[in-house]
Amino acid sequence: MKLLVTGGAGFIGSAVLRRAVAQGHQVVNVDALTYAACLENVASIAQSPLYQFEQVDIRDAAAVEAVVAKHAPDAIMHLAAESHVDRSIDGPGVFIETNVIGTFNMLQSARALWERQGRPAGFRFHHISTDEVFGSLPADPSVKFTEDTAYDPRSPYSASKASSDHLVRAWHETYGLPVVLTNCSNNYGPYHFPEKLIPVVILNALAGAPLPIYGDGSNVRDWLYVEDHAEALLTVVTKGEVGRSYNIGGENERSNLELVRTICAILDEKRPGNRPYAEQITYVTDRPGHDARYAIDPSRIREELGWSPSVTVEEGLALTVQWYLDNEDWWRALQSRDGVGKRLGTA
Ligand code: NAD
Repeated sequence: MKLLVTGGAGFIGSAVLRRAVAQGHQVVNVDALTYAACLENVASIAQSPLYQFEQVDIRDAAAVEAVVAKHAPDAIMHLAAESHVDRSIDGPGVFIETNVIGTFNMLQSARALWERQGRPAGFRFHHISTDEVFGSLPADPSVKFTEDTAYDPRSPYSASKASSDHLVRAWHETYGLPVVLTNCSNNYGPYHFPEKLIPVVILNALAGAPLPIYGDGSNVRDWLYVEDHAEALLTVVTKGEVGRSYNIGGENERSNLELVRTICAILDEKRPGNRPYAEQITYVTDRPGHDARYAIDPSRIREELGWSPSVTVEEGLALTVQWYLDNEDWWRALQSRDGVGKRLGTA
């Protein structure tokens, strides 16, 4: 297939591109190269005849129209987004522009291409979204997000992603555009930008700096290794049913405190220090509106499409910690980017 992937210089998009090329797909990486982007993430495929890069800002409707028309892909996988909740609290405007208007531009260009080509049944617009659109769950472990859970976004980030999900569904219902949607839980793994919890903890631990835990650390997330997410996305874009959404999760619920302690224990083994890394844990002011718990019921994608995660969170974290130990050049170069290393989103 020829896949046009937006946000391919980011964390998850680059994992999708590396895997897609390995599977023999032709790919076009469409990315504006914001503060969160790193072309190093796709260096391993950059010389492949299957790979092309286009620097395009999806907020620019004319540029989006031109790049979609030029490449005429079989499928569009739309990942480009502003993705950091803390930044959305300090500056929500760009989240609306990129996540809402940008998705609108992508949909309009996809629809125009699909109409011009005579509405091919095999075309797909795959919108990649988050479980955060469903809001916050109670502690009861039997309650999880399904595809039928009502939307209840509570941060500017999740509200912008929820808006984009609604647009994608509307373009399917109103214009017949063949869409698929996925809502995934928190990802972690190699190439995770060093402003997100897991890389922050690994890198602060190595630097002897405090390991910041928001509030009391009881917030629960359902962690998924990024390579498993990338495989799920390629499964959905090739096998998913048109008009359907799929929840993707690792069934690895951990509180933030448990997660940080696990990372510390892995580091204690791999890079022993003078004292256990967990002694660097520091409690800081909570994020405003911090959702208590996210948990995904992934039955649909498992039963209908045969996908399941390949690693547990302990296995994935060990791989991730090792990757950061082995790739210091990559993360050091990103630590000087705007806002990295600062506490954001205290409103
Ligand atoms: P990321 O921040 O690492 O990467 C986002 C990429 O999009 C960057 O390369 C950036 O340059 C690009 N981008 C941003 N604004 C753009 C614009 N206006 N035009 C073109 N490109 C632009 O994000 P990520 O963590 O890889 O997330 C990718 C997608 O997956 C997002 O849509 C996000 O909502 C979704 N998602 C993320 C997670 C997670 O845990 N990270 C979980 C579920 C869903």
